[in-house]
Amino acid sequence: MHAPRNERLELRSTARMKELLAEYFGRLGSAAKDRSAPVAWCSSVGPAEMLRALGFEVFFPENHGAMLGAFRMANECMSKAHARGYSQEICSYLTSDVGAYLAGKTPLTAYGMDSAPRADVLVFNTNQCREVQDWFEFYGREWKVPVVGVTSFRSVGEVTEPLVTAITRQMEDLVPTLEGIAGKRLDPARLSEVVGLSRQCSDLWKACLGTAAHRPSPLTFFDSTIHMAPAVLLRGTPDAISYYELLLAELQERIAGGVAAVPGELHRLYWEGMPMWGKLREHASMFAQMHTCVVASTYCNSWIFEALDPADPLRSMARASLELFIARSDGPKQRYIERMVEQFHVDGVLFHDCRTCPHNSNTRYGMPGRLREESGIPSVTVEGDHTDLRCYSAEQSRTSIEGFVEQLADR
Ligand code: SF4
Repeated sequence: MHAPRNERLELRSTARMKELLAEYFGRLGSAAKDRSAPVAWCSSVGPAEMLRALGFEVFFPENHGAMLGAFRMANECMSKAHARGYSQEICSYLTSDVGAYLAGKTPLTAYGMDSAPRADVLVFNTNQCREVQDWFEFYGREWKVPVVGVTSFRSVGEVTEPLVTAITRQMEDLVPTLEGIAGKRLDPARLSEVVGLSRQCSDLWKACLGTAAHRPSPLTFFDSTIHMAPAVLLRGTPDAISYYELLLAELQERIAGGVAAVPGELHRLYWEGMPMWGKLREHASMFAQMHTCVVASTYCNSWIFEALDPADPLRSMARASLELFIARSDGPKQRYIERMVEQFHVDGVLFHDCRTCPHNSNTRYGMPGRLREESGIPSVTVEGDHTDLRCYSAEQSRTSIEGFVEQLADR
């Protein structure tokens, strides 16, 4: 059952995930075409549960950006957005997605769609960055549809009750507009049900990721970036829950059978920052060749929402949105990374300094140095980008990573 050293050991569950994604995009494509359901765009940790409870088909454009990166289509599209005045320095999800729209291109043709689905409303939460609002407003102007959202706090230290109350109020204020577009009232019982389903999805996703604490790890960060798709796109649905039950059983089976995601695992790393979508396969092979398993990441953990509570849906959604790692100040972020290093028995941290996402780059205000000095956690920084491959040098990165892994071996 061992894969060749530089190949990914594919999880069987992948086949079911592909079916679920085909069904999801099929529903979205039909809704956009025959108007059978309203379509909402939602930022990745926006109020998706509220949208689902109102009967919207929900599209997550950051996933579209990631697909453009993974399919290596981003770089041919971004120039169109740059020509419209969107800087090369801003989020390459935004520029590749807007560029793809302007160029009439999309990787969603794999699902029978010839474009991203046209939205009836776009709903953001700036807990992650301001870019999502600017991004959605482009489409709001193009399609003359409403853009609404939550303007959140950033760099949050302690998540206090007044902060949660302020975000809850903003979420409540969205309801009348969204009801008007959906053509129905928000049923509190349905909202509670959807939040409950999201919480179950989150718990199961956490359990799947948690299996990587086992030595050897049954999955890598690169597997998780693929298998997080249902948590991102289908949270709040029974499909996501049944999927993670299946995946968790397979991961537990791997643990019971002593199956390692990286055969001959010697070193264990934590990935801090965005994945590089166009380099996933290359990275998986490179680390496998070094007998190094990237076991866990902040990124994949970001779809764990432990605050969600069906007994208090809106307030718990507000709390979950504030507790998000990306929305926090450096103190809570540092303590979080320290906890992850301990939980996953990690030897060192790889920081991805992502050129066009400063929000998901935690190298710029001294974090690696503080982790080394205060907790003895070694790290390496790799420069790159989540989508724009021009920002990444494979040769330079490999040299840095190999040097780092050799240092770990000497420790
Ligand atoms: S968090 Fe970063 S990658 Fe995500 S939309 Fe904002 S700028 Fe882009």
